[in-house]
Parts: sequence; C-alpha cells; structure tokens
Amino acid sequence: MPKETPFKLTYATMFNPPEELHTRYEEALTRVKANLGQEYSMFINGEERKASEQFEDRSPINTEMILGRFQKGNAQNADAAVTAAKHAFPAWSALPWQERLTLLRKAAGIIDERIFEFGAVITLEVGKNRMEALGDAAEAADLIRYACDQIEANDGFIRQMGSDPLQGYKATNYSVLRPYGVWLIISPFNFPAALTGGPAGAALAAGNTIVIKPASDTPWTSRLLAECFRDAGLPAGVFNFVTGPGSTLGQALIDHPDVDGVTFTGSFDVGMGIFRSFAKGPYVRPTILELGGKNPAIVSANADVEDAAVGIVRSAFGLQGQKCSACSRVYIEKQIYQKVLTRVLELTNKLKIGDPTDRSVYLGPVINKSSYQDYQKFIDEIRNADARLLVGGKVLTNGDLAHGYFCAPTIAVDLPLDHPLWKQEMFLPITTVTPVDNLEEAMAHAVGVNYGLTAGFYGSLEEAKWFFEHTQAGVNYANRPQGATTGAWPGFQPFGGWKGSGSSGKNAGGLYYVQLYMHEQIQTLIQKA
Ligand code: NAP
Ligand code: MG
Repeated sequence: MPKETPFKLTYATMFNPPEELHTRYEEALTRVKANLGQEYSMFINGEERKASEQFEDRSPINTEMILGRFQKGNAQNADAAVTAAKHAFPAWSALPWQERLTLLRKAAGIIDERIFEFGAVITLEVGKNRMEALGDAAEAADLIRYACDQIEANDGFIRQMGSDPLQGYKATNYSVLRPYGVWLIISPFNFPAALTGGPAGAALAAGNTIVIKPASDTPWTSRLLAECFRDAGLPAGVFNFVTGPGSTLGQALIDHPDVDGVTFTGSFDVGMGIFRSFAKGPYVRPTILELGGKNPAIVSANADVEDAAVGIVRSAFGLQGQKCSACSRVYIEKQIYQKVLTRVLELTNKLKIGDPTDRSVYLGPVINKSSYQDYQKFIDEIRNADARLLVGGKVLTNGDLAHGYFCAPTIAVDLPLDHPLWKQEMFLPITTVTPVDNLEEAMAHAVGVNYGLTAGFYGSLEEAKWFFEHTQAGVNYANRPQGATTGAWPGFQPFGGWKGSGSSGKNAGGLYYVQLYMHEQIQTLIQKA
C-alpha cells in the first residue's frame, strides 16, 4: 500500500484489509481464548464492585464456551453508580474543556492500542466476523475523538453574543453550552463498543459524568471500554460501569431521580418504554433514543446490477442481519428485477457461514436463543404466507454449528405487500425482495413504515438526486457497492434516524451531536459605563 494512503479501517474499507491486521487479530484471539471464564466486576466510583449475584456470558458461536462471569447488578448498585456520578460532576464539569479532551483522547488512543483484543472479544461475544469486530472498536475510538474535535472546533461552545445598545451601560452577553449532570447510557448487543463508547465520549466531553449499562449479552466488550477510560486516568466517579438485567437494573437506573439525561440505543419497544418511564420525573429531561430500522433498498432499471447486488447482500447479511441499518427489504424495477435477483442469489449462496473467528467466514451466529427461535418463527410466517424462500430458510446444525445459533441467510420473494413482515424489524438474516412498476411505487413502500433509519438506492445520477429528495431516513446511500444501507462512520456518514428510529433528529458522529449533551445558558453582565 503506498505511503500516502495509510490504511484506515472503516466499514467501507474493511473489505480489503492489509495482511498484518489478520496476523495481529489471530495473536490476540489466542491470548483471549487462553483467558476465558474469569469473573469481572462492575466499576463504581473508581472501584471494582461485586453484586450479590453473578451471571454467565456465553458465546453464541458455541454456548459451551463461557467467556466470563459478570455481576448481576441490582437497584442498590444502580443507586451507588448514580450517586458516584453525581458527586463527581461538580469537579469534572468545572475542569477546563481542554483538560477533559486530553483525557478522552488518551482513552481513544488506548482503545486503538488494544484494538485486536477488542476485536477478538467482540467476535466471541457478539459473533461478528473479524473485520466487523475490529470496525466496532475502531468506531468507538473515532466517535470519542469526533466529539472532542467538535468541542474544540467550537471553542468549547462559549460564544460572545451581541451587546445591547444601552445608554450609560456596557452590556456583555455570552452563550455557553453547559453539561446537564449525570448521564445514563444504555447500549445494545450489536455494537457493544461503538454504541457504548460513542455516547459515553460525547457525554463526557460535554462535561457530564456517566453511568454505563451494556446489554446482558455483551458485558465483556463494554468492560474493556470501561478499562480504557480507567487507564486514561478519568477521575473516580466520572464514569461508572454496571452490569445486569435491563428489566431490573436498567429500569432502576431509568427511575433514579438523580439521572439528568439518557442515551438509549436498542429496540423500539424497549426505547418507547424508557421514554415513557423517564417522562414520569418532575420535569422533562433530555432523552436521546436510537431505535430500530426497516431499511429499504430501491433499484432502478438504470442501476449497475453488480453494484446493487453486492451492496444489497453485504447490507442484508453483514452481522447476520443484526444491524439497525440492515437492508431488510428490496424494491426492484420490474425491467431489471430478474437480473438483480439472480445476482443477489448467486452472491448469497457464496457467503460462508460458520465460526466467525475464521478469516474466510462472513456470517457468524445470531446473538442468542431467543433470536434463533425468532428466525424459525419468521421463516414459518413467510412460508405460511405462500411466499417463496429462494435461498436459506433453515438453521444450520451440522458438526460444530450445532453448539451455536447459526441461521442461513435468507431471501424471500412473493411475500404479499400487505404482510406485516414488510414493516416489522426482524433483526435477522432475512430479506424480502419484490418487483415494482416504477420508482414512485418503490418510494411509497420505502417511506410507508414507522422507521426511518437508513435507505439505499441504485440508479442514474438524476434518479439519485430524486431519491435523496424523497427518502425519509437519517442516513441515505446511492450507488454504493460497499453497502446498500449499512456502513456509517463518524465524520463521514453521521448516524441517526427519523420517525420511529430516533428521537433527536441529529446524527451521532456528526456536526450537531455533542451539543445534545449540553443545555444553553445565556450570561448577561451589565456594567455602568
Ligand atoms: P434491546 O433488547 O432493546 O436492549 C437494549 C438495552 O436496553 C440492553 O442493554 C437491555 O438490557 C436494556 N433494557 C431492556 N429493558 C430495559 C428497561 N426496562 N430499562 C432499561 N434498560 C432496559 O435491544 P438489543 O436487542 O440489545 O439491540 C437490538 C436493537 O437495537 C434493534 O432494534 C436495533 O435496531 C437497535 N439498534 C439501534 C441502533 C441505532 O443507532 N438506531 C443501533 C444499534 C441497534 P438487557 O440486555 O439486560 O436486556
Ligand atoms: Mg453472550
């Protein structure tokens, strides 16, 4: 690779990594595997804390593999974490922003140094293939840095405003963005590094103190992240890390009166529940919700068939369809339908499914038993609707796969357009495809759902402009073989959703995100002239 273009790992560049990435990942995997089954504490007020009960973190690749034992945190632990964050807030928020940024950039640098360990753990814990796993950790570091860069680019959001023209007085007006206080971060299983580290970085850079609660399927990755904050030297109580069930520990955190703001990333139903619970406080507090998606790809008769097929397959089946941005429905103009479909099927048939630590594997397992059962239920629903499964439609249990949750990538056609599965997020490797008469019809279907996270398009330049004009999603891609609907990166494609996919209307890793973690204060000072 020429010196001028050093390799930068993103979800768009990950298809062609340098060889060294593989060697170093494999070394880290060997080290991580030699160390499985340890007990990990929570981290509260700068101290390792145990709860009265523990739970096991098992790998979805092979459920006999116990990755670690984690603390089943309870309401007392929730209270201790929030209280620690509350006590740490005055000093942390009073630090000059430059000092906070130095510490956070150090934490991002530590993530970079440990990226192969992160990658190995993420593969074992989530079932991501190695490049997706490395990407998750790299994105966490970049999201933290992006929040820091935004604060710096805006001089800490301290701005002098106009001076009122007052006779006999000198008026000085400042607009200052200031942190809220204790910020709660509840993250999902599918991007345990980026979607914990990203909100954490923004909240901390803004001057809030935080409590992190990761998904119970993926506590290890978030624990590694907490260690990076610890080792960067963040003061005690500034970040707190608790583990345990969402329904008990998570709910206790949401209900805690000293929480000043929350970022929840996860499913629509849980997110709406959190929104309603959080609204029961004495006044409205900021609630950043990043929820599900039902992401469409539209293919025009003028599309490049190869680009469209490659992009659709990558986005439909990357991370086993368990991305909020996964391409789960495809609308193809009828003139080109057979051609695109044929190529999509060829490419899907070539995908290798198995142990995702193996470098040739593209699809690993789905996350847990409940997803595994959902897959079989959805397949039955599709069959019962007289749709056809052109590829996939079964779980894989041959050899070692019997110990994990492996589901074949599935393409379904002829699913009636009024079937609920066209609108419901399945979060599995199942994509439904249909011909349409024209692009207007495709767009009507594309926007006719409650979600609005990402969308993809393939066609002419003119049509691409039309697509951008009419799509109703936060992240939109045209003519992109790297992914029809997936593959966002801080500073390139900030990520967030419209409608039921997100509450803030501003995208993470973008120009307007870190501001969500601060409220504006106007300071007017009058002096006698
Ligand atoms: P989930 O089941 O909604 O869980 C998300 C988090 O919420 C977990 O940490 C969970 O803890 C916790 N939780 C559950 N009930 C809670 C409660 N009553 N109070 C507080 N916390 C509670 O989501 P998931 O299965 O992990 O993730 C998949 C979903 O996330 C999909 O819908 C996907 O589209 C969405 N997602 C959205 C984005 C985005 O940026 N828009 C990104 C990624 C994923 P437990 O694990 O302990 O239950
Ligand atoms: Mg697990």
